[in-house]
Amino acid sequence: MDKQSTIIENSLHAIMDDEDFLPDLKAQTREQAYNSLVSILTTPNHIHKSFLRVTLENGRVVRIPAFRIQHNDVLGPYKGGIRFHTSVTEDEVSDFSKLMTLKNALHEVPFGGAKGGVIINPKDYTVKELNLICKKYVQYFNDILGPDKDIPAPDMGSGEREMDWMMAEFKTIHPGEQYRNSFTGKSIVNGGSKGRRESTGKGVYFSFRYLMHDYVKNNEKWLSKNDNVFADTAMKYAKKKMTMAVQGFGNLGSVAALEAYKCQYLQNKIVAVSDQNVMLYNEEGLDIPALIDYAKEHDGDLPTEDDELKNHDIAASVKNRDDLLELDVDVLLLAALEEQIHEDNMENIKAEIIIEGANKPVSEGADKYLSDKGILIIPDILANAGGVIVSYFEWIQGRETQFMGEDHVYDKLFDKMKHTLDTVLPQFFGDPFPLRQNCYIHAVSKLSTIMFRQGKLY
Ligand code: NAD
Repeated sequence: MDKQSTIIENSLHAIMDDEDFLPDLKAQTREQAYNSLVSILTTPNHIHKSFLRVTLENGRVVRIPAFRIQHNDVLGPYKGGIRFHTSVTEDEVSDFSKLMTLKNALHEVPFGGAKGGVIINPKDYTVKELNLICKKYVQYFNDILGPDKDIPAPDMGSGEREMDWMMAEFKTIHPGEQYRNSFTGKSIVNGGSKGRRESTGKGVYFSFRYLMHDYVKNNEKWLSKNDNVFADTAMKYAKKKMTMAVQGFGNLGSVAALEAYKCQYLQNKIVAVSDQNVMLYNEEGLDIPALIDYAKEHDGDLPTEDDELKNHDIAASVKNRDDLLELDVDVLLLAALEEQIHEDNMENIKAEIIIEGANKPVSEGADKYLSDKGILIIPDILANAGGVIVSYFEWIQGRETQFMGEDHVYDKLFDKMKHTLDTVLPQFFGDPFPLRQNCYIHAVSKLSTIMFRQGKLY
C-alpha cells in the first residue's frame, strides 16, 4: 500500500471509535462506514492516461506518456500540479493526488485533489517542442479540465511559462468561456497572483515560526505541564539560538532560508545550504542574501569553488552535498527531493526539528523511527501548502479580474495557515500522535463528515 493510503487508513482507524466523530452512526454502521471511507479515500476517482503525439523540430514523431489523476472532488474542483520529469510514474502521480485532497481539506481550501505528470526531461526538448507538449496536454485532457472541473498548476519541471501556454490553449479551445482561472501559477501579466512564486517558501517558514515562537510563547504554562515529548522538544529550542541547515536552494529553499535569515521572532543561524552540486558551510552563519544574488546570476546554482566564493565575498567552505543531512544542527529544512531521509541514514540524523518543505522528503520508515525518538517533524501537508493556498487566491482573482497587492496576499496566506496551525497544534501537543498523524486525522475527519452528510456512504 502507498504511503498516503496507509496514513489515511491509520487516521480513520484512530477516530472511528470516537463518539464525537459522525455521532449519527451506530456501532454496526460505524464499521461499514469505516470500510467505505477507506475504499473511497485510498483510491482515485479517475486515472486519465494518454500518449501525446508530438512532432519534434527534426520531423520525428514521438509519443510522450502523460497522466492526469483525479483523486477526490468532494470539496470542490480537482486541483494539483503537473510534474515534468523522467521519474514520473502512475503510482507516484496517484499518491500525490491523494496528498492534494488531504492538504486542501486540512487548510480549508475549497478544492479536491488531483495531480498530473508528463514523462520527459524538459531539458531534452527545444522551447518550441515544449510549447507543443503543453498544448497537446491540454488538447488530450480537454474534456476533464476547466475552472470548475480541474485546475492544474506547476510542479517540478514546469513553471509560469508552461501554465501561460496551457491557459492560452484552453482559451483557444473554449472561445468565449472563462479561462483566466483554468490554470494557476501563471505569470503576473497573464493573471497570475502576486506572491505566488514566494508563497510556498514563505508558508514553510511561517509554519515553523508560528509553532516555535507564537504558539509556544502563548501556551508556555500549558505546554510545560504536558507530559508530551514533542512539547518538550519545542520548549527546549524555542528560546535558544537555533542552528539550521537547508537542503535545496531553489524556489522553495532559498525563499524559506531568507525568511529564516531575516526573522525577527526567532534567532536562527543558517550554517549550511546545499543544492544539486554542493554544500556550503559556515559555523558563524551564511550570508543568505549574497548566496541568493549569486544563484540568480548563475542559473540557480550555488558557488562550487573557493575562488568563486572569494570573488563574491562570501565566507563559506565547500563541502560534500549529502553530508548536510547528518550535520550536528538543531533544525533541518528539507527543500529538494523525496525520500532524502530513509532507513539507511535515519540513525545518523542529529537535528531534533525537521521541516518538510519538499513533498515526502522523509520515508515512511524513517518518519516512524524519528517520531518515536521525539524528533519534531513539521510535515509537508502542513508546511508546504502556501502554493495551493495562493493558487486558490489566484483562481478567485482570475474569476473576479480584480488583483490583490503582494502584502495583502501574504497577510491572507499567513491568516489561513495560522488558522490551520491553531486547529491542529492543541491536539498535537495534547496527545501522543506525531504532527503528521494529527494533520491527517483532521483532514480525513473533515472529508468523512462532508461525504457522510452528502449521502456518499450509503
Ligand atoms: P526547484 O527546482 O526550484 O529547486 C530544487 C532545489 O533542489 C535546487 O536548488 C536543486 O539544485 C536542489 N537539489 C536537487 N537535488 C538535490 C540534492 N540531491 N541535494 C541537495 N539539493 C538538491 O524546486 P522548488 O520549487 O524549490 O521545490 C523543491 C521541492 O519542493 C520539490 O520537491 C517540489 O516538488 C516541492 N514543492 C514545491 C512547491 C513550490 O511551490 N515550489 C510546492 C510544494 C512542494
